[in-house]
Amino acid sequence: DKLREGRAVLEKRVAERTFELNRLNEELKRMDIARREFLADISHELRTPITVIRGEAEVTLRGQEREAEEYKDALQRIVELSMQLGKYVNDLMFLARTETANLQFEWDSVDLSELVAGVVEDFQVMAEEKSISVALDAPAGPVWVRGDKQRLRQVLFILGDNACRYSNPGGRITVALRMDGSEASFSLTDQGIGIPSEDLERIFKRHFRSRNALHAREDGTGLGLPMAKSILKAHGGRITVTSAENSGSTFTVSLPLLTAGPDHNPSHQK
Ligand code: ADP
Repeated sequence: DKLREGRAVLEKRVAERTFELNRLNEELKRMDIARREFLADISHELRTPITVIRGEAEVTLRGQEREAEEYKDALQRIVELSMQLGKYVNDLMFLARTETANLQFEWDSVDLSELVAGVVEDFQVMAEEKSISVALDAPAGPVWVRGDKQRLRQVLFILGDNACRYSNPGGRITVALRMDGSEASFSLTDQGIGIPSEDLERIFKRHFRSRNALHAREDGTGLGLPMAKSILKAHGGRITVTSAENSGSTFTVSLPLLTAGPDHNPSHQK
């Protein structure tokens, strides 16, 4: 009897292990499919600008003599596409790192007033090309937070880039920086295509793009907002959005204020 009991226990264990192994196997298969899909997506994203850059260069080389102005235009497009490629590569490196290890942040006191003003200036050029006006409403003095300046700039770039890309020509982008109790809040409002209400939650998921965005712009990866979200999470901050389709969107970022000012920054701890 004891033998039979022992055997039953063993058999039960074997069955459990087999079940667990099958489950793991299924999970591995799913992960492999997801990995291949991701690589296919990103290869596609990288291929498009490369193809266009090569096309521009080949046409310029092969064609008959052109006006200096036309050469300049071709070079300008090549520069813009290279920048886009650089952005994709940065995104890829960032995503590769977040998946495997903790992101490294360089903590410091950051003046959001200065950072926001700088980024708005960078975007002025891009906005002008679409005749979009950019207005900045920020306190005169500094707004101190603890953070990684490059990463926070990256967040502003992602939001500013989206606001420009999803705006209609002639639109207006309003950037506002406020101090609200113990928080700094930064918001960016556009008058662009807006986000369908059923997608508001989903736009922070990797690779998600709304149908209206897919229609308006082919060049998107759906990686910007997830990246912004994870950067802000590491800062103890958050990002929210309100939007109405066909009338515009407001993205708001909140970060804990460093109330005592930069000198009282509690050392550069992680
Ligand atoms: P991408 O812009 O490359 O698609 P993001 O992660 O930055 O990737 O954005 C995800 C999606 O969120 C976009 O595809 C679009 O559907 C929506 N979205 C983001 N910003 C805006 C905006 N300012 N106006 C309208 N839709 C936006």
